Amino acid sequence: MAGKKKSVQVSEEKRPENEKREDEKEILQKPAELPGQPCPVCGTNNLTLREEDMEIPYFGPVSIFSMSCSNCDFRKSDVECLEAKEPCRYTFEVSSEEDMKVRVVKSGSATVKIPYIGDMEPGDFSEGFVTNIEGLLMKFKDIVQFIRENEEEDEENRDKAKNIMKKIDRVICGREKIKIIIEDPAGNSAIISDRAVVEKLKPVKN
Ligand SMILES: [Zn+2]
Repeated sequence: MAGKKKSVQVSEEKRPENEKREDEKEILQKPAELPGQPCPVCGTNNLTLREEDMEIPYFGPVSIFSMSCSNCDFRKSDVECLEAKEPCRYTFEVSSEEDMKVRVVKSGSATVKIPYIGDMEPGDFSEGFVTNIEGLLMKFKDIVQFIRENEEEDEENRDKAKNIMKKIDRVICGREKIKIIIEDPAGNSAIISDRAVVEKLKPVKN
């Protein structure tokens, strides 16, 4: 389940030409919306670009960028820290229902690994978001659900997906422990808890 998602998405590099970084800096202070932009998927001018700044306690200020098309339902989002961060790896053991509330910042450049459940990898399909542990697990559940619905031919994979979904439900109820690892070479991600183990991530050579 390497980052496969239901909607068609494009990478950040394929953003419309007129959406430059310099323009974004000017609107950094307030939530900003730019409707009527050309959609990279369906080509109509129904794309709305949004940018919102948010202060995340114990982490710092972040900008959340998103684009959504009202014509074809294309959407994409990412999150970026407004302060320079180091490449990082967060490891967190989810052990109770209470842990569902732990804040998670995941950028488009991050890899999320949940042993026995799956990985969410960076790339064209990757999104950035601010959520909590429960929200992150629900995103994994959505991906697994999608795989399950599209494995009509393969009963074994369908069963596997079903079991993973049950496992996620047990974790959400606090009946099963699980480890969540987030690695971000850009440092734009975090699991905000005293119990999260934070390590420096070694830069990957290309
Ligand atoms: Zn569209």
